[in-house]
Amino acid sequence: AKLRVGLLFGGCSGEHEVSISSARAIARGITAPANGSKYELLPFYVQKDGCWQNIEVSQGVLDSGQPLNSEGGNRWCLPSSAADVDVWFPIIHGPNGEDGSLQGLLKLMQVPFVGSEVLGSAVGMDKIAMKMAFAQAGLPQVKYMAVSRADVWSNPCIFPKLCDRIEETLGYPCFVKPANLGSSVGIAKVKSRSELEAALDNAASYDRRIIVEAGVVARELECAILGNEQPQASVVGEIAFNSDFYDYETKYTQGRADLFIPAQVPTEISSKIQEMALQAFLAVDAAGLSRVDFFYVEATGEVLINEINTLPGFTATSMYPQLWQASGVEFPDLVDRLIQLAISRETAAK
Ligand code: ADP
Ligand code: MG
Ligand code: MG
Repeated sequence: AKLRVGLLFGGCSGEHEVSISSARAIARGITAPANGSKYELLPFYVQKDGCWQNIEVSQGVLDSGQPLNSEGGNRWCLPSSAADVDVWFPIIHGPNGEDGSLQGLLKLMQVPFVGSEVLGSAVGMDKIAMKMAFAQAGLPQVKYMAVSRADVWSNPCIFPKLCDRIEETLGYPCFVKPANLGSSVGIAKVKSRSELEAALDNAASYDRRIIVEAGVVARELECAILGNEQPQASVVGEIAFNSDFYDYETKYTQGRADLFIPAQVPTEISSKIQEMALQAFLAVDAAGLSRVDFFYVEATGEVLINEINTLPGFTATSMYPQLWQASGVEFPDLVDRLIQLAISRETAAK
């Protein structure tokens, strides 16, 4: 019998539309000639309000590529066909999809799923916890400070002192980020005290946990990881753009950023990045897949780790599948390997 793959997409985060695009590409991979005799696709679309749709409606969303505006349903009642799934392929980006919440639900179902478990997902998502894990693994990164919403909002005496400390420790420009988001949402590059104050206030509206980092002038390089206990690293790619930094608009406006695969950097730099990417993957206890992002300070030759993304963008033109294609793994094969990695992890646990 064919293995029934539950493709879970959409979701409550700001990356709802990206998730639909990723799911369309993965669905084509699951049903590709090479995989068609092995797998049966069962799509499940999660609306923006968190309600799950049945297979028929979900297939319609996959076909059209358009989010559904309908609302309502019972958030606690999954479609009955969810019980037929043999292995889940969750591709919901951002909070609730990539941060361990959904992984906890799938774990409770006792069905194998693609990607990291609860711990790896949560540590990979929270930029403060992630940086602590990287520091422990000896990975070089930018100087940073962890800040709480309470520091920003609750005590008018603490706030000016906090800003003083940030200025002394990190200087300008620095980056203010909500700890648990993605797609550059809520991130600001600040160059003055007034911008810092406004950015902290804004970041606090997104998250209780905030991170402030020293800004670097660097090229942005990325490496894809595939595997569980013995992960493999892909060739290294570069993202180039003209905006001030890789913000939301640059990420999702067609033609604003270019991918260069493989990146034109010295071999020792790409080898170092592959090595660091593997260490980062193990440091947060990721599984299956991740994309690890770096800053390459060309002037000094320094390589700093920026972040790990445990459920990276997976559209046909996204960096993750393109890096694997350039490394000799075609899209349908990549999808197949990820599903097999999910199953082998589950088998190993027994
Ligand atoms: P996200 O998880 O939302 O992608 P990132 O931490 O990767 O957040 O930041 C988004 C972008 O902001 C980066 O790709 C980079 O262009 C810029 N950026 C973030 N932090 C720094 C930094 N410390 N120095 C320079 N640029 C930064
Ligand atoms: Mg990220
Ligand atoms: Mg990023």
